[in-house]
Amino acid sequence: MTSVVTYVISDDVAVVRVSNPPVNALSLDVRQGLIDAVRRANADVAVTAIVITGSSNTFIAGADLREQGTPSPILPDVISEIESSVKPVVAAIEGQALGGGLEIALACHYRLAVPNAQFGTPEIKLGIVPGAGATQRLPRLIDVKLAVEMIAIGNAIDAKVAQTSGLIDRIVDGDVVAAAMDQARAATGEDLDRRRLSRWPAPDAAAATAAIAAVEPIAKKQRALGVAPSKALALLSRTLTKLFAEGFAEDRQAFLEMKASPEGQALRHVFLAERATKKLDGPAADAKPRDITRVGIIGAGTMGAGIAMTFADAGIPVTLMEISEENLNRGLARIRQSYDGSVKAGRATRAAADERIARIVGAVDYVAIADADLIIEAAFESMAIKKDIFRKLDAVAKLGAVLATNTSYLDIDAIAAITSRPRDVVGMHYFSPANVMKLLEVVNAAKTAPEVLVTAMNIAGKTGKIPVVAKVCHGFIGNRMLRAYNREAGLLLLEGATLAQVDKALKDFGMAMGPFAVADLSGIDVGHKARNEMATGTFEPKAFAVHAALVEANHLGQKTGSGFYVYAKDAKESAPNPLVSELVASARAVYRVTPREIVTDEIVSRCIFALVAEGAHILEEGIAQRASDIDVVYINGYGFPRYRGGPMFHAGLVGWPKVIAFIEAQAEGPFAKWWTLAPWLLKQRP
Ligand code: NAD
Repeated sequence: MTSVVTYVISDDVAVVRVSNPPVNALSLDVRQGLIDAVRRANADVAVTAIVITGSSNTFIAGADLREQGTPSPILPDVISEIESSVKPVVAAIEGQALGGGLEIALACHYRLAVPNAQFGTPEIKLGIVPGAGATQRLPRLIDVKLAVEMIAIGNAIDAKVAQTSGLIDRIVDGDVVAAAMDQARAATGEDLDRRRLSRWPAPDAAAATAAIAAVEPIAKKQRALGVAPSKALALLSRTLTKLFAEGFAEDRQAFLEMKASPEGQALRHVFLAERATKKLDGPAADAKPRDITRVGIIGAGTMGAGIAMTFADAGIPVTLMEISEENLNRGLARIRQSYDGSVKAGRATRAAADERIARIVGAVDYVAIADADLIIEAAFESMAIKKDIFRKLDAVAKLGAVLATNTSYLDIDAIAAITSRPRDVVGMHYFSPANVMKLLEVVNAAKTAPEVLVTAMNIAGKTGKIPVVAKVCHGFIGNRMLRAYNREAGLLLLEGATLAQVDKALKDFGMAMGPFAVADLSGIDVGHKARNEMATGTFEPKAFAVHAALVEANHLGQKTGSGFYVYAKDAKESAPNPLVSELVASARAVYRVTPREIVTDEIVSRCIFALVAEGAHILEEGIAQRASDIDVVYINGYGFPRYRGGPMFHAGLVGWPKVIAFIEAQAEGPFAKWWTLAPWLLKQRP
């Protein structure tokens, strides 16, 4: 027996317990341990039945994604050992039975679970289908549409749905292991073939076809997962009605192929990358976070209101401060409206929304936030205003309070220097809408204390965010890279591409929106203002000449009804703004550019590899801790396709030599200045 699987005989029942914290993942040790335990119980004359259970309120939450290759015994070996056991096997399920964990449960002859248990096959979120028989057992056991939905979409179900659908035999409100032991004893002598799902008939063809058709429209909406959901449906439509052995063989082959595919690799990378962001290098690795029980927020505009809701949603009381009653009331009204919208849409009950609204109180005086443990400034993007605010905060905030700024670009070291406590100052850069977007760039300024950094990371996790550490530079990780991406989009326009062509090429690549549509959404004036404050020579004016002209003509984007596109009243319909072609033509005349034909491949390569080239500089300078952090930023904050793994991972899949050669070629071209090669990049050459 291995140490992660224990075997205890209680009267005549062998209780096999998986203890592989934190989620009892099915590592090689666990797989071997389960096989050994089932064999031992079957060989032991004193044992009549077997119970398999988990520990720490989890059954088994899936495979061990860090495992390299597929060392034997593989999961299907464990599954067939359990299902073919001569003595009855009962699963006693607490917490999550997910992925391989659910497959183990399906191999057992009975399944009992506690009321808060959860069941699912989330493999599709990693770009794969379940690989150990759930594709065959689940549709035999429960309503085929529910099974197809679980496999192709990956949503979990609760114990109630599991019971009504027949996935579990019973909910046990109490000692589920004891109940499972009773169930196991009662099953001795039964014809277990009737409980072996591999012996059950496949769903009938009509039901299978209807199920696939019903789930197809839902699968189409899972853009982040690329082709995985439609591949899963195509597979199921072939194998659902087959004999078990035949169907399973085909499903297993598809699982192996999907796992090895670029999308499978990318989605697995992102899953691990999102967990890795919290690991801190340097002195912060051992620092302890401070307690945060009260939060103050300065500025109740777009960001301040969203950040306030983030904390209220997590049960943390917030004081929201503004410069005037009028602005405060506008902010509070915006918050109420947003919660009312959630109630209307059925995402929250009235009572829950009211509770959250009540957690946010307003103020127009700094005294009201003096006792806050964390204060986040989200006022206008102006150094003078921010310095003024931090000077006042320094005077009123209690000792030990963390003082954070949500600035997008400004020098946080300069903001910290205005206070007598720069160690307590940190950047917390949220994304809009702040209560929805998962990403938070936590900016570790030059003097930020390790425990302040850790506090910001920790509270981010507690409020449902994915925090990524960055150091101070203009735009931190995300916005700094975005400048390079937008530069190439702007230059392509000048050189001959149309704006619809650029947006379509990048959307087809998988970006949530094209760069010009994004500029219209966030307001062309926002970037324009930021560029105006940048030193000459730090951005390419030619790339943003059309942006500047649009701002001058008051075509600011969606908010004025036109920008790069013209928007119909409901903002859903848009068409390229005819003014843009005129502005492009005059920019070409000014800069003496003769337009040429530009193909999709050039658009995608220039925009995406510009991100990679800038990302490499960011790594070289130590602004980001690791390449995978950059991927997490781009996927969660900038609409980069998850199924491509983020810009840095994507570059690895394309092949570093090819990407480096492309960047080197640009470095020979007219915009060489922007395409310097970071030494980090050269180190990626195999
Ligand atoms: P906004 O204009 O919507 O809101 C700013 C609010 O701050 C206004 O309501 C204003 O009355 C208030 N304010 C100004 N000075 C103040 C002071 N001295 N004391 C108290 N309140 C004050 O701006 P926003 O879009 O919410 O941006 C706020 C900050 O967040 C900026 O630094 C911006 O760069 C940053 N940010 C914005 C976004 C975005 O997408 N909008 C994203 C990330 C970060």
